[in-house]
Amino acid sequence: MNILVLGAGQLARMMSLSATHLDLHVLAYDVGSKQVIDPVTFATKEFTLEQAITRSHAITAEFEHIPHDVLTLCAQSGKFYPGAQAIATGGDRAKEKALLDKAKVACAPYQLITEKGHFLNAIERLEMPLVVKTCQAGYDGKGQWRVKRQEDVEQIWSEMATFIASGTELAPHSIIAEKMIPFDREVSIIGVRDKQGQCKTYPLTENQHTNGVLTLSIAGKEKLAIEQQAQDAFNAIANALDYVGVLAIEFFDVQGTLLVNEIAPRVHNSGHWTQQGCHVSQFENHMRAVSGLPLGSTELIRPTAMINVLGQSSIPHSVLGVSDTTSHWYAKEAKPGRKMGHINVSGKDLKQLGERLDDLAAILPEHDYPGVKATADSLIGA
Ligand code: ATP
Ligand code: MG
Repeated sequence: MNILVLGAGQLARMMSLSATHLDLHVLAYDVGSKQVIDPVTFATKEFTLEQAITRSHAITAEFEHIPHDVLTLCAQSGKFYPGAQAIATGGDRAKEKALLDKAKVACAPYQLITEKGHFLNAIERLEMPLVVKTCQAGYDGKGQWRVKRQEDVEQIWSEMATFIASGTELAPHSIIAEKMIPFDREVSIIGVRDKQGQCKTYPLTENQHTNGVLTLSIAGKEKLAIEQQAQDAFNAIANALDYVGVLAIEFFDVQGTLLVNEIAPRVHNSGHWTQQGCHVSQFENHMRAVSGLPLGSTELIRPTAMINVLGQSSIPHSVLGVSDTTSHWYAKEAKPGRKMGHINVSGKDLKQLGERLDDLAAILPEHDYPGVKATADSLIGA
């Protein structure tokens, strides 16, 4: 079977690598260069987008900000999963909040903003501090403002107004203000839904962000009650979207109660640990779901952590000398802060995982790989 992925980055690459052994053949459409390429070798294919759509059995996406015309073509083919509505919802925070309300899943109190009055109203009703986010653009914490003091309101409004004014009739821009949540930590659930509506979820993942970017994820240390909350939210959201494929939901954990931060209608960085922590990774399960194949196990085999490699063009080879550790490279040119690859490390239990993270912390400088040592210490001490 042939599968076309919209977007030609590391997620398409890892989908391809996870699918070849199932006899699934993945090509990617680079929306920037408008070329169809092999996402592993980057070789250009002599297909137009239309030809690639025709020869594909299923079409999917690795990101949500897909040009309108491309999305329409793919949706018209009847082979696009998770579907145009799911992609549009994940790419617009206002649509996302409406979905959460419809599915009755809790999130941070919010207010949509298209004019200054709404902003002033949000400050009064929700009270500062607020997190203000662009609805249509933004990733890795970009397109956000923190509103903490009355003195900052005018300056922030002028920046917000510029963003709103840059929208068009076809692609309007809006902004959302959320109450700043004093969360204890951030977690996410990755799950998959097949064409018959069956859902399976991976274990909850704890995520550490540094300057708005995910730096470390760890799976295998959660209690049943919180897992259940996340699973319930997953089922409600995936069913409301009649979703097919892998879906990620990020949450704030506020004293054991989960509030949704955002959803991503795709495989997700916080699910990269599944490549070594589960029999069937998020990438393979996404490929299975969109191709109509039976889903694979999402059970945890062993506690596993993922460390993002940001901006580094290589890692010391001794990393691979730590037991049950491997790396995944994205074959990208190094730029400061860019996601270049990740390291997965597993242990038979949390203590052993902690010891291995401690070994990695001795190799990887804290400055470039924040939180590895602290996570090791907390697992060893637990
Ligand atoms: P990504 O797509 O890379 O996950 P993003 O740019 O889409 O990030 P968010 O996930 O919405 O943005 O926000 C980035 C980070 O900012 C969150 O992981 C969280 O740490 C913080 N944050 C966002 N919203 C809130 C909020 N309402 N209260 C407190 N912190 C928040
Ligand atoms: Mg996020």
